[in-house]
Amino acid sequence: MSFDALILGGGPAGSTAAIALSRRGWKVALIEKAEFPRRKVCGEFVSATSLAVIEAVGLGEEWKARAGPEVRRVALFSGERVVTARMPAAHGAGFGRALGRDVLDDLLVQEAVRAGATLFQPFCATEVTPNGDRQAVTIASRKEDMTLSAPIVIAAHGSWEPGRLPSQLEKTNRPSDLLGFKAHFSAARLDADLMPLLVFPGGYGGMVWADRGRLSLSLCIRRDAFAELRQEAGGGSASEAVHRHLLASCRGVREAIGEAQLQGRWLAAGPIRPGMRVRYRDDIFRIGNVAGESHPVIAEGISMAMQSAWLLAEELEAIDPAKRDERDAAGRRYSRRWREQFGARILAASAIAGFAVRPVGARLMGGAIEALPALLTLGARLSGKTKPLGISAFETA
Ligand SMILES: Cc1cc2nc3c(=O)[nH]c(=O)nc-3n(C[C@H](O)[C@H](O)[C@H](O)COP(=O)(O)OP(=O)(O)OC[C@H]3O[C@@H](n4cnc5c(N)ncnc54)[C@H](O)[C@@H]3O)c2cc1C
Repeated sequence: MSFDALILGGGPAGSTAAIALSRRGWKVALIEKAEFPRRKVCGEFVSATSLAVIEAVGLGEEWKARAGPEVRRVALFSGERVVTARMPAAHGAGFGRALGRDVLDDLLVQEAVRAGATLFQPFCATEVTPNGDRQAVTIASRKEDMTLSAPIVIAAHGSWEPGRLPSQLEKTNRPSDLLGFKAHFSAARLDADLMPLLVFPGGYGGMVWADRGRLSLSLCIRRDAFAELRQEAGGGSASEAVHRHLLASCRGVREAIGEAQLQGRWLAAGPIRPGMRVRYRDDIFRIGNVAGESHPVIAEGISMAMQSAWLLAEELEAIDPAKRDERDAAGRRYSRRWREQFGARILAASAIAGFAVRPVGARLMGGAIEALPALLTLGARLSGKTKPLGISAFETA
């Protein structure tokens, strides 16, 4: 089957690209290996800097109706410490909100289909092979294998799973690796407008109200700290050990979820791979986590996924996809704009996470924020919370 673009992965990055390119009249295949709706390890907060993209893909009304309350304050919960501060508003866009990934990702994929994309789900992309001026991608489900071809291939498969695609990263196994965990709670107690950063021995996390009265709690913990927890617990499930550790080490968490009910089960993923990577190589464009990933401490990954997809679509719209030199030039322009938009926040997130996961760093950070809570507001600013993607140059839905 022949297309203009093959998009590998139907998370926020892949679906956004599929919507944008399909609306431009491109023949797009969107390939997603998981069945939706599905929950995902993620804090589910979307910063207001992405509201223009959410509107542009056609989900503005759904967003207003379904996302959790506006987050107008940030906080630090660390040990016995509870400090709150103002969240800076995004220029012209206000405040971010959270929506469960089981809801958001499903809405985006459905919108991509409405825009005209052909959805292959559940199908896993397993191989990319150059074929003259086009590329062939093999996709496989439990029942069948198929080959699709197009001049443009966009890798949007995230960064946490290894595989044979040239854009997939190898798994690491280092003591400092960060493993991700996530859970939903009902009947929790947290101010509706508050999103606290949780700092606890060996890791960091966050909590926020999402849709349907669910509190979304997510965290990252070092592999070595996690191994110690499990050993001390002497068996039991990994997530129970993490849950107990959080409750024991963080007063703010105890007050918020001590009496709450766990909804569903804990999810785990990782190791996560923060950092900047290539955005275009070997004729494959990369968006979302494949292109680069900030530490989840700043809760910007969904925004970067949707915004990078939009940036790429703007560049591709202007070219003849069949011409390799035009693809290369679009790749260079996209890569430069990606760095301008996201480079600083990746560095800021790395610095904040570096403090949070080290005992001395966490103590210093906690003391400084207690003395000067406005540092929390500054941290949110440095992490890109006030920098919306300007999309006026590109026609919206
Ligand atoms: C603990 C934690 C908390 C976080 N909290 C937040 C937060 O509050 N806010 C925020 O903005 N970000 C947060 N993030 C980051 C955010 O989850 C990611 O940055 C975001 O999901 C990236 O989107 P993506 O579309 O690039 O990739 P993904 O969301 O990973 O989507 C990739 C999709 O591709 C599919 N796929 C994978 N391989 C293949 C294949 N071979 N073929 C076909 N399909 C494939 C997968 O099934 C998946 O659906 C958090 C991350 C962690 C670890």
